[in-house]
Amino acid sequence: MSAACDLLLVGAGHAHLGVLRLWAAGRRPRGRIELVCPEDAAWYSGMLPGLLAGRYRSEECCIPLTPLCRAAGIEWRQAAVTALEADSRSLRLEGGERLQGRWLSLDTGAPPQAPAHEDADMELLAVKPFPAFLARWQAWQRAPERLAILGGGAAGVELALAMARQVPGLALFSAAELLAGHPPSLRLRALQHLQAAGVQVHERCPVERIRGAALLSRGQPVWHGPRLLLASGASPLPWLRSSGLASDLHGFVAIASTLQSLSHPQVFASGDCASLAGTPRNGVHAVRQGPLLAGNLARALTGQPLQDYRPQRHSLALLADGRGGALLSWAGFTTEGRWCGLWKDWLDRRFVRRHQGP
Ligand SMILES: Cc1cc2nc3c(=O)[nH]c(=O)nc-3n(C[C@H](O)[C@H](O)[C@H](O)COP(=O)(O)OP(=O)(O)OC[C@H]3O[C@@H](n4cnc5c(N)ncnc54)[C@H](O)[C@@H]3O)c2cc1C
Repeated sequence: MSAACDLLLVGAGHAHLGVLRLWAAGRRPRGRIELVCPEDAAWYSGMLPGLLAGRYRSEECCIPLTPLCRAAGIEWRQAAVTALEADSRSLRLEGGERLQGRWLSLDTGAPPQAPAHEDADMELLAVKPFPAFLARWQAWQRAPERLAILGGGAAGVELALAMARQVPGLALFSAAELLAGHPPSLRLRALQHLQAAGVQVHERCPVERIRGAALLSRGQPVWHGPRLLLASGASPLPWLRSSGLASDLHGFVAIASTLQSLSHPQVFASGDCASLAGTPRNGVHAVRQGPLLAGNLARALTGQPLQDYRPQRHSLALLADGRGGALLSWAGFTTEGRWCGLWKDWLDRRFVRRHQGP
């Protein structure tokens, strides 16, 4: 086992990027701090649909970790965690090495869920992790085939709109109505765009299983084809489920408003891997947790009282329409247009720039 760190940051998710940015700006607490992440860059999901639609280059959508960690005075270890033992706060890395932290902070995201597929004669591709997805998507583009996307949330809709004109026959499956949780008028706007782009939309059609080359919903085949993209509901990473950390009904790390694990207060969790009442799983909340997390980790290391994360009631959603515009939703109000796309582009580029440093 390597010598214990004062703090181990696991995953370069959106909240940890905020922590590193603030610490790079001079608010780093003392102590030995290390980041463990399998990728050498953090991808900004908000720009992925624009990348697929050909409006961005990949280097515009990601934040290299080496300069950010160097600026923050953090050691960076390129590795994936394969096991966590919450009681001892020790991690096992791919390759077998073990690490221990006096404090831990988890921001590892949550990959999409796959339906049961023991005998699938269909290629399955998850949208996360992004590097693996992008490599496969490039191969798919060289030999286009029919494709179905699973997931009727913001990510599924944006992906469908970005890919529609590059795929011969694209279907989008949503277990509930499209964009559930958003105002109904956003759904209607999205449906119009999807229809205009020729996407076959299947709402209230939960896909439970893949048999051969068919998707089954309620036991019946609803689509046949060679390729399936998974962009549906987040699922907890298996090693978090077996870590001993208290979890919610679905297996996400249950946290208090200080972002500490309910069972192990020396472990923090933020972003999609965590479960906190009133906090939907999306990039907006993960980003907002960053500054509070940075402060609370510094307070924890110096024995000061922690502060509470108070989720804002409304989040701004800007969904790329695949052609440079965007659909906007805020507090029950929706609109759309080219100007929304320009605003989204400005916000997204600003996010990446702020973390890329000078
Ligand atoms: C196409 C698409 C578009 C989206 N657009 C938006 C949007 O416009 N607005 C919005 O609010 N949300 C959007 N989302 C949702 C958003 O991506 C997530 O909610 C957000 O990324 C969650 O951030 P996070 O901090 O939890 O972790 P993530 O950003 O998912 O990062 C997880 C990190 O953990 C690392 N990691 C993973 N496994 C391990 C491991 N075993 N060991 C160590 N490190 C690990 C990863 O490498 C990564 O660095 C979109 C999602 C998709 C798929």
